[in-house]
Amino acid sequence: MRFHSTRGPADGDGASLAEAITGGLAPDGGLYVPEGIPRLAPGDFDGLETPPEIAVRLLTPFFAGDRLADELQAICEETFRFPLPVVPLAVAPGELAVLELFHGPTAAFKDVGAGFLAACMQRLESGAERPLEILVATSGDTGGAVAAAFHRRPGIRVGILYPDGLVSPRQAHQLACWGENVRTWKVAGSFDDCQRLVKAAFRDPALRARLRLSSANSINIGRLLPQMVYYATTSLAWWRRRHEAPGFVIPTGNLGNAFACLLAREAGLPIGEVVLAVNANRTIPDYFDSGEWRPRPSVATLASAMDVGDPSNVERLDWLYGGRGCAADRLSARAVTDDEIRAEIAAGPARWGQVWCPHTATAVRAWDGLGPDRQTQPWVLVATAHPAKFETVVEPLVGQSVAVPPALAALLELPARAEPLRPDLDALRAALLTG
Ligand SMILES: *Cc1c(COP(=O)(O)O)cnc(C)c1O
Repeated sequence: MRFHSTRGPADGDGASLAEAITGGLAPDGGLYVPEGIPRLAPGDFDGLETPPEIAVRLLTPFFAGDRLADELQAICEETFRFPLPVVPLAVAPGELAVLELFHGPTAAFKDVGAGFLAACMQRLESGAERPLEILVATSGDTGGAVAAAFHRRPGIRVGILYPDGLVSPRQAHQLACWGENVRTWKVAGSFDDCQRLVKAAFRDPALRARLRLSSANSINIGRLLPQMVYYATTSLAWWRRRHEAPGFVIPTGNLGNAFACLLAREAGLPIGEVVLAVNANRTIPDYFDSGEWRPRPSVATLASAMDVGDPSNVERLDWLYGGRGCAADRLSARAVTDDEIRAEIAAGPARWGQVWCPHTATAVRAWDGLGPDRQTQPWVLVATAHPAKFETVVEPLVGQSVAVPPALAALLELPARAEPLRPDLDALRAALLTG
């Protein structure tokens, strides 16, 4: 299968999957999308049970003809080796469950996409003469997932830049506990400074002459495709049991996770309505209401990993629905305020027997807003991170400490070391070229 830019078919043959993964963005600045969407039926997955088995069946058409095709099985086995449990919630009148995507090494759903991308890139890099240098600017979750995914991969080095003092202590630890092929810089500046530095590094002739720089950006098609898999496993299990297609309520920032769900639905998986839960960054619900795309600067909220004012994956949404992403069938969005997030977290233990992370709490509130009629349908709430990652928000609201999951606890035990960095390109250049 070939991959084309969202900005038009003018890219001729487009790119192979390997090229799209290596390139990240299309040459015209658009996002890569597949030339066609495979049409599958639930019966096409008969006899397949585990996430790796279902992943291979679902992703084979996207890998057809690519140099990674023979490796797909191994890539899926390597990626889907932590549980993706669906936990039922006792509730009247309908059926409700939580899909927990936080059992990976850094306790957030980004572990799936980052792990798959790393497994692909390592195979594409084998035999390269010089190491690939992956640079990531992070405001928290992305950097940890990318570091965990690329740690100890031969032929690849990772540089992480985060704003010193502006991530939680546990997030800072997760960014700086790796060592070996992962280097971490705490930048005396904001997240925007980190992003600006990374972009400047990519354009810098001195660095380009000496290093092979790459990114592991969340818009990479190699992070998007594997995210379809947990929507497939969850919806197929539901379908096999009840012959019903569950709806999903998805905490949404840059629209990567939710887009994977929509792509899975389009590919024939038994998925019902999709509701996007956003925080006070209302760009998507406003687009759905007005039909006008009005990006704006992001505002800081409790669900910080979703603080996106200009979600880039809207280009893919419009591609999927023929330019009318705002009018797509069985798709809606709801904005949730910080006060509502606090209220849902506080109510979680008594009402549901659950402690929600701030991102997952937006999905709970969006489900609450559906009203009794729509709640009689089966729904799955998507839990994108473990609450222990956001203990400073969560613990005061629930009045108890939150147990740290074992994978995260193991990371927090490791010594952490981040080097300080001035927020200018000279400093970053010197750091990259001496190490
Ligand atoms: C990144 C992130 C999100 C938002 O995901 P998008 O793909 O950007 O919509 C939601 N929750 C958590 C915990 C995240 O880390």
